[in-house]
Amino acid sequence: MRPRKILSPPASLLTVALLAPILPAKGAVLNPPTDGVLPTLPSKSVTAPVVALQPLGAVDPGVLATVAGYVRSLLTAEVEILPPRSLPDSAYYAPRHRYRGDDLLAFLDRATPPGYSRVIGITDRDISVTKGLIHDWGVFGVAKLSGRPGVVSTFRLGASSSPVPVMLARLEKVVVHEIGHTFGLPHCTSAGCVMRDAEGSIGPVDSSTGRLCPVCAARLEELLGRRS
Ligand SMILES: [Zn+2]
Ligand SMILES: [Zn+2]
Repeated sequence: MRPRKILSPPASLLTVALLAPILPAKGAVLNPPTDGVLPTLPSKSVTAPVVALQPLGAVDPGVLATVAGYVRSLLTAEVEILPPRSLPDSAYYAPRHRYRGDDLLAFLDRATPPGYSRVIGITDRDISVTKGLIHDWGVFGVAKLSGRPGVVSTFRLGASSSPVPVMLARLEKVVVHEIGHTFGLPHCTSAGCVMRDAEGSIGPVDSSTGRLCPVCAARLEELLGRRS
């Protein structure tokens, strides 16, 4: 059974925070738990999106390389690591010592050369969005749905308190999640799917397989024009 096709809202109007409550479309199919299925994307020669990873501030080059390798293999995308940039003052939110996600997205879109179809900022600083009545809500990441930019923070991924492999696995998952949004994938309710909403806690990130469920994988192929 195919899921109901979800029309993409205008990209310019929407940003999707990892923790924001995005409900599945009415009638969406609940998938059985999966132990992770790699998207069966056809050859890279069709259309390989060029994803830029943009370190914002100091980010360990080894961490960046690992994340780049993960994205490259999982999404069949070309991935480039850009030279680091400073976090823009325009995005700083002094009352909470955080950086506003929306402003970071605008900065990334502005500052990144047009040759990159997607750009994902990575920072160790705390980032936030407005969620409902909460003006400044800290998140793991945020991205523009069907847009170019996304940004991910290691601040809430245990960067200072967890073993590096744990933080790294979380970072890989959140980066893929946000890239999925930029490709137009909404949140998914399938257990283990990397597009599942974290709903405010690290638990769903840790229980994610880090991969797309079969429905999301198929949808991504459609969105990328890799399936007719
Ligand atoms: Zn999300
Ligand atoms: Zn899914």
